[in-house]
Amino acid sequence: MGEALYLEDSYLQECDAAVVEARGKEIVLDRTVFYPRGGGQPSDTGRLLSGAGNEFRVVNVSKKDGKIIHELDRDASLSPGERVKCALDWPRRYKLMRMHTAAHVLGATMYSELGVLITGNQLEEDKARFDFSLGSFDRAKFEEVVGKANVALSSGAELRIYSLPREEAMKIPGVVKLANALPPSITTLRIVEIPGIDVQADGGTHVKSLREVGRIEILKLENKGKDNRRIYFSLSG
Ligand SMILES: [Zn+2]
Repeated sequence: MGEALYLEDSYLQECDAAVVEARGKEIVLDRTVFYPRGGGQPSDTGRLLSGAGNEFRVVNVSKKDGKIIHELDRDASLSPGERVKCALDWPRRYKLMRMHTAAHVLGATMYSELGVLITGNQLEEDKARFDFSLGSFDRAKFEEVVGKANVALSSGAELRIYSLPREEAMKIPGVVKLANALPPSITTLRIVEIPGIDVQADGGTHVKSLREVGRIEILKLENKGKDNRRIYFSLSG
């Protein structure tokens, strides 16, 4: 896999890179700032500038067979070894970083207050969706949970990101939501910790401080069958 610069520094908006593979619209680079979709976080979008000065839109980024594939808006006729420049649609990515970080805090608060686990999530620039399993569903109770998540956000805690050997990481309760989904070949886990609030094995992009997130606002609560519930939320501030 090309070097995933967003794992080291999620605030990096641009980078130079070399083309490793090019197949029509699909480009693999030796390093990239583009986050490939995953974990409920959509892929980044942005621009790719060829050495010849041609500009292409990066419309989708995905991970396939261990490679980060950048899909361009059109065939770029690039060749391996060619130098390019990458630039993110930064305002969009930054909103996703805030939303992703808010999702950690809300998910952790729902777990500690209601004992529920998030079974599905989808983050967007301006709203996010959580699916979870809960028998009785009380709007007032839920507003209280969101209130507590907002108190946690207003603490302004700083995130800590570090690596742990898999064996050691697995001793942290709840650190991996889908433990069995991790292939045995992964021996080191990237840990994202919001001190006192949440610890997760996680490959996404986050803000540095909860101060940057704003406040969570409930957009909609839905019943999706017997025990399946859904919440849509957005951020203000
Ligand atoms: Zn995360």
